[in-house]
Amino acid sequence: MEFLQPRSLPEALAVQAERPEAVPIAGGTDVMVELNFDRRRPEVVLDLTRVPELADWSRTDGAVRVGAGVTYTRMVAELAEDLPGLAIAARTVGSPQIRNRGTIGGNLGSASPAGDCHPPLLSIGAEVEVAAPGGARRIPIDEFFTGPKESALAPGELICAVHAPLATGPQQFAKVGTRNAMVIAVCSFGLALDPERGRVGTGIGSAGPTPLRAVAAESFLQEELSSEGLWESRGPLGAAAVGRFGELVAGAARPIDDVRGTAAYRVHALGVLARRTLTWAWDQYRTGRS
Ligand SMILES: Cc1cc2nc3c(=O)[nH]c(=O)nc-3n(C[C@H](O)[C@H](O)[C@H](O)COP(=O)(O)OP(=O)(O)OC[C@H]3O[C@@H](n4cnc5c(N)ncnc54)[C@H](O)[C@@H]3O)c2cc1C
Repeated sequence: MEFLQPRSLPEALAVQAERPEAVPIAGGTDVMVELNFDRRRPEVVLDLTRVPELADWSRTDGAVRVGAGVTYTRMVAELAEDLPGLAIAARTVGSPQIRNRGTIGGNLGSASPAGDCHPPLLSIGAEVEVAAPGGARRIPIDEFFTGPKESALAPGELICAVHAPLATGPQQFAKVGTRNAMVIAVCSFGLALDPERGRVGTGIGSAGPTPLRAVAAESFLQEELSSEGLWESRGPLGAAAVGRFGELVAGAARPIDDVRGTAAYRVHALGVLARRTLTWAWDQYRTGRS
């Protein structure tokens, strides 16, 4: 096996374009599992951990650019204010060891329907920056996932970063697993309230062939909040509206029965997670507590 270690992004992009069969490795927390179980035996591995351009995050014009190599530990420690939903999701990933190694770019690269970055990124309308030697392009997150473990990344391209707007309101994430840590989600849900734009965003994990948005639930809640003047009054949100939001989120799921849970359980649990996260987020908005 060839192990290539580029020291800059242009060098990494050139190698990936010349050797599209090369398997990129960042934290290795998915790649090494595949190697250890002999599911994959790549001839060429492209180590991205020495590429400085992927390693950092920055703030620009009301948005955040998170380099593909930023780890969960850093998302928890450094992004809780700017991207709170992503930071909450990062806190639930694996164990300290996995959070120290695992990256946002690797989560997107694996494109698992259960990846924990995906629901918060869907809920905030993030964009994935990918590049090849000829230039970069941005893929809206809801066009990025094309099938189970498949994405819109073209052969020879690398994921460079994620772009997302700075939070203007509360964001929440919750997941159900068979225990509290070191499990793949049975289902998960991310919610973002954006009072500046009067927008509600959602993301569903592990309950469909790809991560999904609950578009009808978003429209319903946006309409409810604006027609009742609740963004301005910060008044209580009625139980009927919270219940309807939960039903619409559950209705957007496209789950299957598998070893982790039945489709029926996932639909039920998503309704509960949606009601719970909405109650938390609205309470935060009303009281100004984060
Ligand atoms: C014990 C354990 C617990 C886990 N728990 C969770 C969990 O709770 N939630 C969760 O979501 N995941 C979990 N995972 C899965 C894994 O940790 C995450 O998917 C992580 O984000 C992968 O990141 P990485 O940097 O380690 O990726 P790697 O393993 O290095 O790469 C993953 C994939 O992405 C590709 N890739 C990496 N970087 C790029 C790039 N810049 N451009 C293009 N392709 C790229 C690789 O080729 C590979 O296909 C767990 C894994 C283990 C082993």
